[in-house]
Amino acid sequence: MEHAAAHGGTGEKRSATLYVVATPIGNLGDIGLRALETLHGVDAVAAEDTRVTRRLLARHGITKRLIPVHEHNEKRAVEGILALLRDGRSVALTCDAGTPAISDPGAVLVAAARAAGFRVAPVPGPNAAIAALSVCGFGAPHHLFYGFLPARAASRRRELSALARLPYTLVFYEAPHRVEECVSDLRAVLGDTRRIVIARELTKLFESVHACALGEAGTWLAGNPDRRKGEFVLIVEGAVEAKAAAETPGPGVLEALMDELPLRRAVDLAARITGERKNELYRLALAMRKKAVPSRSR
Ligand code: SAM
Repeated sequence: MEHAAAHGGTGEKRSATLYVVATPIGNLGDIGLRALETLHGVDAVAAEDTRVTRRLLARHGITKRLIPVHEHNEKRAVEGILALLRDGRSVALTCDAGTPAISDPGAVLVAAARAAGFRVAPVPGPNAAIAALSVCGFGAPHHLFYGFLPARAASRRRELSALARLPYTLVFYEAPHRVEECVSDLRAVLGDTRRIVIARELTKLFESVHACALGEAGTWLAGNPDRRKGEFVLIVEGAVEAKAAAETPGPGVLEALMDELPLRRAVDLAARITGERKNELYRLALAMRKKAVPSRSR
């Protein structure tokens, strides 16, 4: 019953609580009812950019004390906010778009409030990565949210190499001025065949979600300058070998067929039996053949 009071009625407010409030990533209609109640009820709002949050609040007729908390002042701002909590006040934390502390400031304040023993409560809502994953259609059971890759090409490629063998769907944030070079590096490190979903301007007027093979993504982006504008989430399939190996039913259908048949024939049959995509099985077969002892290789 602890949360009953917090969830009911208008003007959600419990004393000495830091509420971490998600706000829209584009479409202002995506603000949640509980987010609005919380913003109505708190004593102050700690905002990444006070101008952005002030506009959101004004749209809903809310006037609040706004405290800037951004990447350049977060450590300094924490003391003032802790003082409010100590005074029994409640504070909402917002960022410019989406969920605070997810590739955005907020974690320092959250950690400090928790360490000082104050209640920290999420008010969940929009998040670009989850929105993109929900429409990518991969259906993979596991995904890894990476956030922003490094801006420098050498570091970016190094990071990608470390991710290359993971059998998890990879989720990246990217800025418009870097999206082409990022996609080019994804292809260079992860190969041509994995699927990528380029989710752009989600929930906004020019929203687009394009799926293709990594080998085709650069050409698609180059095909129209509008495709390189706005905000991006890039979703890339997990490592094919590991994925196919993990999903192949039975004790290695492909491996058994490769023991008896030429590679292409084994791949054809394995695709029919398992329903896996032929090109994925083909890559898996090549990788297996490389590792195989000479007597079993074909
Ligand atoms: N905290 C936010 C969240 O919960 O998603 C993320 C903030 S991060 C600073 C901003 C990045 O998120 C953008 O560069 C872009 O990669 C992604 N993003 C934010 N809004 C988006 C949108 N409407 N469509 C696609 N990507 C978006």
